[in-house]
Amino acid sequence: MTKTIYLQKIGDIEPGILIILKKNLKWFFKKCHLKVVILPDLFTLLDSEFVSEKKKYNARKIRKRLITHGKNKNYYRILGVMNCDIFTKPSKFLHGVADPPKNKSFGGALISVIRLREEFYRRTENIAQFEQRVLKVAIHELGHTFGLEHCENLCVMRSSNSLVDTDIKPRDFCEICLQKLNNYLSDSA
Ligand SMILES: [Zn+2]
Ligand SMILES: [Zn+2]
Repeated sequence: MTKTIYLQKIGDIEPGILIILKKNLKWFFKKCHLKVVILPDLFTLLDSEFVSEKKKYNARKIRKRLITHGKNKNYYRILGVMNCDIFTKPSKFLHGVADPPKNKSFGGALISVIRLREEFYRRTENIAQFEQRVLKVAIHELGHTFGLEHCENLCVMRSSNSLVDTDIKPRDFCEICLQKLNNYLSDSA
């Protein structure tokens, strides 16, 4: 069975971001024989997911709904991509969120690209840098859905608490994480 990562557009976000991310993820995960597909499904944000005093969306709530959506459709991995600011306690803000999967046949993660844009910090936008940041955050969160934990090595699975951390860490898995990922993927039928 071909294993596929499904990208789900959430709310208002330029479709081009998902198209570039798909291309980059496809290239990155080619060696792991993972396919990448953009879903046509409509997934809007709900008022009940917005926390007005924080002016942010509750990442846990959205991810939960995303997972239910993906499970119902039998998607292997689903990655939600959105442009609104998200948080989850105790973090004030997040670039992405994922939990280790309960079973191997399904996993879901969510990323928000808004804080990966230079313009968010009133600096001049750098498209190439932005695309690399989106790719790194996506690989990191997908890594969690494949059972990978945070890693101290020079590795995309390093935890990052700021944009600087994200920029500094490499885009690739270290040898140990890559080995774990390959074991994980070969074990799951
Ligand atoms: Zn993480
Ligand atoms: Zn690692």
